[in-house]
Amino acid sequence: MAPPDPDLSRIPRPSDVERPHPIYCVWELTLACDLGCRHCGSRAGRARPQELSTASCLDVVRELHEIGVREVTLIGGEAYLREDWDVIAAEITRRGMSCSITTGARNLDADRVRRAVEAGIGAISISIDGLEQTHDALRGVQGSWRAAMDAAERVAATPIQLGFNSQINRLSLPELPGIADALVEVGGAGWQIQLTVPMGRAADRPELLLQPYDLLELFPLLVWIKRERLQPAGIALFLGNNIGYFSPFEEELRYGGEQGASWSACSAGRYTLGLEADGKIKGCPSLPTRSFTGGVLGRDRLADVVENAPELRSLRERTVEDLWGLCRTCPHAARCLGGCSWMTTMLLGRPGNNPYCISRALALEAHGKQERVVRVERAPGEPFDGGRFEIVLEEAPAASAPTLLGGRDPAQVLAVRAHDQSLWSAEALRERLRRT
Ligand code: SF4
Ligand code: SF4
Repeated sequence: MAPPDPDLSRIPRPSDVERPHPIYCVWELTLACDLGCRHCGSRAGRARPQELSTASCLDVVRELHEIGVREVTLIGGEAYLREDWDVIAAEITRRGMSCSITTGARNLDADRVRRAVEAGIGAISISIDGLEQTHDALRGVQGSWRAAMDAAERVAATPIQLGFNSQINRLSLPELPGIADALVEVGGAGWQIQLTVPMGRAADRPELLLQPYDLLELFPLLVWIKRERLQPAGIALFLGNNIGYFSPFEEELRYGGEQGASWSACSAGRYTLGLEADGKIKGCPSLPTRSFTGGVLGRDRLADVVENAPELRSLRERTVEDLWGLCRTCPHAARCLGGCSWMTTMLLGRPGNNPYCISRALALEAHGKQERVVRVERAPGEPFDGGRFEIVLEEAPAASAPTLLGGRDPAQVLAVRAHDQSLWSAEALRERLRRT
């Protein structure tokens, strides 16, 4: 039997809308990692002190199945660093759920790819964050781009669907056409992109983050990449939930040009669930542990936590009354509810006011304004932690300012190819990645 299509599994069906329940779960199997990413939100590296045993994980799979989850994505750290990762994956697929893996792929060797095939894994998404030198600098390991591309070739030679996922920040933005080119070259099926969020190690590097006004350059670039590089190769583009919202840009990028199609509210705690390796249950894997853990696997019944925990309910029961700042008076407020809760919580301490929004940036631009975020408090240094930022509303620069695209010459950006080394000098890479 062919594995269920992971992307279809994530889309709520009419019966899910009638009786909402998690259908998609992202599960951190371990916090151990073989990379040292400078933008890692969970500050991964070592396993958590009390990660779940194999027997507990198999129980968790049963509970996920019982509450109606249809797809599970295994992440880390690096999921394959647990010896039993494929045993857990095989149990997920045995129960009829889709299983996918998101990986940095530094050590996704032939044996691990074979085990993934045998476990029935349907999709593997490899993280690529720029051209070779940029990726290696961001991921903190020389040779990590080469290793990931070699792994991508191995996956592409199997029945497993190959995808890339990429973080968008000041270093990767102008190199996105090169990542798309690499995906075409290796024969991938899809590309998931998301903005780098000021969480964990990324919160220590505010110079790495995009500013809200950078969306005005990013969205037209994404449209160009989709039309010129991805569509001709039959590759699907998946916008992460923190890239939006509304406007013809979103119609084209997220919904393939379907007129009137639009984003509708964060799905955390409603259709989405996140599990940490020591059993903590959250409405979304990316949300900070301290304020969004609703229960712990093994101690609490998953179904009870999903139904009753205030940490999950508050996410799905948000209304316009909970919005603030410019989101409160936005014409899309009732449908949007302030976009991605993760982005706004990490930035401003609570959901409901999202400066990383293309329709908001366009509306401000029309009045000669822009928003800029400034860090005013450093992060304490724990997994999934954040600092505190403030939004500054200011005059936009005069239109006669020199035109750059992601800080580089636009002609250079549109010409970049998979095997170029980096659009940045070694000094510029160091400067952007410096902890401040
Ligand atoms: S301004 Fe806020 S509520 Fe309006 S579309 Fe943007 S994120 Fe959504
Ligand atoms: S917090 Fe953001 S990433 Fe998480 S479910 Fe909500 S929109 Fe998606």
